[in-house]
Amino acid sequence: MTNQESLKKAQSCLLGNYRREITMVRGSGSEIWDADGKRYLDMGGGVAVNSLGHAHPELVHALATQAATLVHCSNYFHNPQATRLAERLVQLTGPGRMFFCNSGLEADEALFKLARKFGHETGGRHVIITTLGSFHGRSLAGISATGQEKVKVGFGPPTPGFVHVPFNDLQAVADAITAETCAVLIEGIQGEGGIYCATAEYLLGLRELCDKHQLLLLIDAIQCGMYRTGCFQSTTRILEEQELAEPWLPDAISMAKSLGGGVPIGATWIAEKYTELLGPGSHGTTFGGNPLACAAANCVLDVIERDRLDVNARRQGERLASRLAVIAANHPRKIKECRGLGLMLGVAFHIDAGPVQAACLQAGLILLPAGGNTLRWLPALNVDDDSLDEAVEIFEEVVKLLPSEN
Ligand SMILES: *Cc1c(COP(=O)(O)O)cnc(C)c1O
Repeated sequence: MTNQESLKKAQSCLLGNYRREITMVRGSGSEIWDADGKRYLDMGGGVAVNSLGHAHPELVHALATQAATLVHCSNYFHNPQATRLAERLVQLTGPGRMFFCNSGLEADEALFKLARKFGHETGGRHVIITTLGSFHGRSLAGISATGQEKVKVGFGPPTPGFVHVPFNDLQAVADAITAETCAVLIEGIQGEGGIYCATAEYLLGLRELCDKHQLLLLIDAIQCGMYRTGCFQSTTRILEEQELAEPWLPDAISMAKSLGGGVPIGATWIAEKYTELLGPGSHGTTFGGNPLACAAANCVLDVIERDRLDVNARRQGERLASRLAVIAANHPRKIKECRGLGLMLGVAFHIDAGPVQAACLQAGLILLPAGGNTLRWLPALNVDDDSLDEAVEIFEEVVKLLPSEN
């Protein structure tokens, strides 16, 4: 079937909640092919999901092996893949425990419920402060937590208990705290909002503020975590130049996207001090932590650790950022600025980014839109020099041909 034929069929039976036209049929590394056989360089990584690229042989093998062993057994039982994964994630993060689920919004939902429970047990508080431009998933609570109007339109009234303040503004958080506040939730790097990094001062200040007012500090690391910035957590990368007496840690962290390298899995890390809040019967999900998804995540971590993809993410991120900075400097009337860390980079345009994304796609390069006329680069963590260089060349050609703002 060609792209045209599949599009026609898809439009007759799939909900039109996504804007899309092309049908993808297979991938390999940082390349992906559509139904017409056209090749693309995938620098969107399935929205920061395909951390090992497409069809990584070891991930294929791990999935096949686990599928032939045990796919699912329910949360009435432990399984060795989930226990191993939990142990590793705790080791990578800090003293605490893991809850497994299937997506980002579920990992965030666990943060919301943890915060509510904490608030209930500490004087009946329930308000979570989040930031403008944030994104926290598409459930009713998620869109209420999200600091962007566009996801809420038509779905009111919002879930009560969320207030929004400007990002990277410590004073705004301090001013928003009331007797009802129980938690503060931010992304280490705002993704959907347009690739904005939290500053070191903001992270340090929030920790202090939350301790002072007995609030939970929650990090949504769904897009920015899992080594995308070169460190397991973006907050570690952001704080690496600070001389801290002890490691900076929030009270809970949500993870998903690249955790399973493309297999759906979400996770919430909760600091040891607060693990009792979600005791037996308090929360759960049928598929959460199933052996197949956890085997995928264990394999992704094995490959990242063995091949030092953290180092590659940092190195390729620096190469990409410097190449993009040159393109931006050569086209100041088209490109406003470049932002981001590691392999989570955004190019903000003066003009609407929609047609730029479409022109890149036409030229065989996948980039993803984000807020504020920004295009995101979220390639696989194992992206190589050749793929990245070719992608940058295509991007540069597209930018050259764009009409200027004036
Ligand atoms: C993608 C994303 C989510 C939602 O994850 P889903 O798996 O789509 O539910 C939440 N927060 C952030 C920061 C994200 O990037």
